[in-house]
Amino acid sequence: MRKVLTDLVFGHDWAANLLARSMASQRIPQSLLVTGPPQIGKATLARTFAMALNCQSEEKPCGQCNSCKKTLSGNHPDINILDAPQETLKIEQVRALQRDLSLRPHESPYKIVVLCDFERATSSAANALLKTLEEPPSYAVIILSAQNSSQLLPTIVSRCQIINLRPVADQVIITKLQTHWRASAEQAELIGRLAQGRLGWAVEALENPDALSLRHQYLDDLIDLSGKGHASRLAYAHSLAQKKESPAQALNLWLSWWRDVLLLNQGAKAKIVNIDYADKAQHFAQTVTLDNIIAAIKQTYTTLGNLNYNVNTRLNLEVLLLKLPYLK
Ligand SMILES: [Zn+2]
Repeated sequence: MRKVLTDLVFGHDWAANLLARSMASQRIPQSLLVTGPPQIGKATLARTFAMALNCQSEEKPCGQCNSCKKTLSGNHPDINILDAPQETLKIEQVRALQRDLSLRPHESPYKIVVLCDFERATSSAANALLKTLEEPPSYAVIILSAQNSSQLLPTIVSRCQIINLRPVADQVIITKLQTHWRASAEQAELIGRLAQGRLGWAVEALENPDALSLRHQYLDDLIDLSGKGHASRLAYAHSLAQKKESPAQALNLWLSWWRDVLLLNQGAKAKIVNIDYADKAQHFAQTVTLDNIIAAIKQTYTTLGNLNYNVNTRLNLEVLLLKLPYLK
């Protein structure tokens, strides 16, 4: 059983083993909170555990039995997964889940609810769920995911067993991309480094070339802006704030860029992420002072954090861009 669960949850063996042991000893946590950066594998772990809990075979999850097939196709009557990262999770949805949870499972040992990105829940929705976490029906398993437990009500967090997923080693991602997703060695190497430990991101980048071309655009923009003055930077902040793709995407990339520049500035070339931009990053590393590189990293972090708190996006980006280093 242990091996099967681990096989499906790449790179998070300890978490899969922990859950497999809870099944073997029949001490299933009724409330779980899986935390970690976006696309690191939180939803995959939650879905795989849900599938394992209701699997009808000895080797759980088998992926073959009726229950597993229904889970995989998203049609399991006893497994309810709410995974729509862009939408707010409202109290009506939590109430509907609670009504459903009050009925015994149709055909399985467990009735499972997976609420992905629970930080998007309104406070009334979170408070409503608290009642269920306090007194769950014996057959219920509730799995929440969030980037960071500090984004949730402490009363919610304290009632959950927490599984904090950490970035997966680059080499694990590079190997998996080649063995499971048929990436070429060159593709796997670049994407594996860019992924920064997030296998979900790596697979998406491999299957969706748009993600990589967007990366080129945002990196080129940053390099270009570094040679420009106030007016161009303000105009860019305005256009980025209006983009449908979240400005956070650009900022995360820029953060990886400044980290590379910092590493190069310190002579640690082997560890850089954007290997295809090494020459340009090297130029920055030699031109920008260490203080300015660190200031750029700090300011980008601050701006990213602010984006989560509904501040004025354009103003937030303007402040960042005006503070970034000016290259001659
Ligand atoms: Zn099965």
